[in-house]
Amino acid sequence: MRLILASSNTHKLREIKEIYHNFKEVEILPYDCLITPFVIEENGKSFKQNALIKSKAVFLALKEANLLQKDDVVLSDDSGICVDLLGGAPGIYSARYSGGSDEDNLNKLIDEVAKLEGKTSLAHYCASIGISSFYGDFNTYGFMYGSVISTKRGSNGFGYDPMFIPKGYTKTLAELSSEEKNQISHRKIALENASYLLRALM
Ligand code: IMP
Repeated sequence: MRLILASSNTHKLREIKEIYHNFKEVEILPYDCLITPFVIEENGKSFKQNALIKSKAVFLALKEANLLQKDDVVLSDDSGICVDLLGGAPGIYSARYSGGSDEDNLNKLIDEVAKLEGKTSLAHYCASIGISSFYGDFNTYGFMYGSVISTKRGSNGFGYDPMFIPKGYTKTLAELSSEEKNQISHRKIALENASYLLRALM
């Protein structure tokens, strides 16, 4: 089975490939190996809606270009961080929080957390996986709970990882190795749930 990833985010692609490295039955490739990447308007109101908007858009584009084999599956990831004391922000707007780069988004969230009493808050990451196939559209969720701090620590991972400490840990995600992150992350849990669906589609 070909698992076509509806993303051009190199960090997500790397993590998905690492998490599925034992999933020998699937050949993983990004959709821009098959067609020219295009902008997908993520106008959903939830991680689930945005994940399905992405997987459906790529599935349809490949189908219209006659590039799909019968058991091909398109998989997307929509994810973000939700900070309790900021009312769940940035949430589904995590990628667009500052209007600038990932680094700008991180700096903006650090500034917001620094304004809180105690300069910390409970927070969680959420990932929703969208799956589109000739058998229909499906989705799964994964969560990772912890807290955010108002400083950056570590240089691994990406996005908001330097300010997020998983529950039960003292290090930020950016201070953990990719193997450690991939054992506990929202993406790992959502992909593990998706693997049961994928096996059923094989
Ligand atoms: P999306 O590509 O529209 O799903 O946006 C994802 C946003 O959430 C980006 O701003 C990422 O930096 C952030 N994000 C999602 N997952 C992670 C993660 O595992 N670590 C750090 N940031 C993440």
